[in-house]
Order: sequence, then C-alpha cells, then structure tokens
Amino acid sequence: MKNITVVGAGAMGNGIAHVFAMNGYQVNLVDISQEALDKALATISKNLDRMLRKSKITEQDKSNTLNNIQAETAIKKGVANADLVVEAATENVDIKLQIFKTLDEYAPAHTILATNTSSISITKIAAVTKRPEKVIGMHFMNPVPVMKLVEVIKGYATAPEVLETVMNTARRLDKIPVEVNDYPGFVANRILLPMINEAIYSLHEGVAGVKEIDTVMKLGMAHPMGPLQLADFIGLDVCLSILKVLHDGFGQPKYAPCPLLVNMVTAKRLGQKSGEGFYDYKSTPEGEDLIVSRFFKR
Ligand code: NAD
Repeated sequence: MKNITVVGAGAMGNGIAHVFAMNGYQVNLVDISQEALDKALATISKNLDRMLRKSKITEQDKSNTLNNIQAETAIKKGVANADLVVEAATENVDIKLQIFKTLDEYAPAHTILATNTSSISITKIAAVTKRPEKVIGMHFMNPVPVMKLVEVIKGYATAPEVLETVMNTARRLDKIPVEVNDYPGFVANRILLPMINEAIYSLHEGVAGVKEIDTVMKLGMAHPMGPLQLADFIGLDVCLSILKVLHDGFGQPKYAPCPLLVNMVTAKRLGQKSGEGFYDYKSTPEGEDLIVSRFFKR
C-alpha cells in the first residue's frame, strides 16, 4: 500500500490527504473544482504550520508532507496508479454512485475502493462496481488530523482480507479503527444525528436558546462541543443528508429532520463553511466566544 487517491478535497478530503501524506504515503488529491484543490492545499499547509508551532512536527516533516501530495482535477488520471482510493466527495448518493462507476473503470484491478460516506450504504455503492469485494467504508472523523477514530464498515460483499488491510492501514496512520456492519448511519451517525436533530427541535420549539442548549450538553454531559455548534462544524447540509438516509433506511418518524434544519439548508445557511448557521462565524472575532446568529438572538 503506497499510492493513495483521495477523491473530494473539501473539509474531509483535505484532512484525509494530510494524514496519509504525513505518514509517508504518496497522495493524489482529486476534485472537480480547482478552487477546492487550492483551498485544500492552503488548509493543509496552515494545519501543518499549527503542528509545527506546537513542536509536533519539524520543518522537514512539513515539507515532506506537502511534497507527498499531488493535486488533480481528472479522476481518470488521479486514480491510474492507486493502491487505495478514499472517496470523500459530497454526501449525495447519485454523485457517489457515478464516482464509483468511474473509479471501477479506471483504477487498477487490485485497488481497494473505500468511501468516507457518513451514512450511505456501502453495499449499494459496491453494487455499481465489478469488484464489490474490494469496496469498504473508511469513515474518518472531523477534524481528521486530530480525531483518533476510523469507523471501518463492511459491506455485504466486502472480503475479509480487504477489511484486514484497511484496519491495518488505519493503524499505520496512528488511528484506532473500529469494525462495524453496514446499516444506515453505521454506529457514529445513527447515534449522533438523532441527538443533533433533537437539539434543533428543542431550539425550534423554544425550549431554550442556542447558547443554552449547547451549554447544557457541554457542562452537563461533558461534551467538548454543544450539538448545535457541532452541527455547524459538520455542515448543516451534511447533517440533513444523513438524517434523510436514516429516515429512508429505517422508515421511522423518529429520524424525520427538523423543519428548521430543512429551512436553514434551503436558505444556504450551512454552518461554519458558509459563515453562518446557529452561530455567526463572520462576526465572531478570532479566539472569542462564538456569537449566536442574528436569527436566533433572544
Ligand atoms: P464538502 O462539501 O466540504 O466537500 C466535498 C467536495 O467534493 C467538494 O470540494 C466538491 O467539489 C467535491 N466533489 C463533488 N463531486 C465530485 C466529483 N464528482 N469528483 C470529485 N470531487 C467532487 O464535504 P465534506 O464535509 O468534506 O464531506 C465529504 C464526505 O465526508 C461526505 O461523504 C460526508 O458525509 C463525509 N463526512 C463528513 C464529515 C464532516 O464532519 N463534514 C465527517 C465524516 C464524514
């Protein structure tokens, strides 16, 4: 396992490229958007600088890591010599199925095709390829360079040796892999998203304000971040997509997305990445307490 292709250079893709490159792998980072690639490389450089300031890495580590990453807009070219692909494109089933058809066509026969999907069925993704035994979920947590967990999801057809290889690869990245089966939301998001949705319902129904809900969960449950801040961090569009997968997959009303979340995504208030969600990131000075969005001022 030497050459890794990461497809999608957004919030997750840049972190995944960062950890593979830092651990000596050659990374091809692929995105349809050149702007996303430029932003990802700038983010990786900024995050390496932060590690350098904290003496976690040396100047040499930083330049080796950056030298290990190639940016590419053509998936065909980006995947030509991959041993492992980690797909981290937009959480949309049609986009992912199309990407996996292309990956299957252009990646070498031995290549393992992993997806970082938060909730979409691995078995469904595998079924559009001619190598379902080599398709697997490799679900990193955000922010990838910091978070230890990798949820490794076995599809219906995933071969045991592919599972073993991916578990070992995660360990080589200094992560802790946990094996789970392929059901909607897997484990992490099946438990996390209903909690976030309930927090949004609590706000929507006027039980408490944004700061109050987050403070209860931070101080009362020892969560490092409140659920509304976490939703902003994940991206409200990503949260909505995952809830829809849970709702469709289980057919139970308890997973129905809160109408407030639906409205916010429709209005393109997507959280940190759009500058505003439950909090207003544009108005909050660096290092200060987050300012609640004007839509939720009490
Ligand atoms: P994002 O919106 O930040 O980035 C997605 C990127 O995919 C964009 O740069 C977009 O240009 C690119 N893209 C779209 N279609 C493409 C294609 N056909 N080929 C190549 N690139 C394409 O999304 P994100 O938050 O990084 O999420 C990526 C994946 O990771 C999703 O499956 C998501 O569910 C999962 N995930 C997200 C989080 C999180 O906290 N955001 C955590 C774990 C897993």
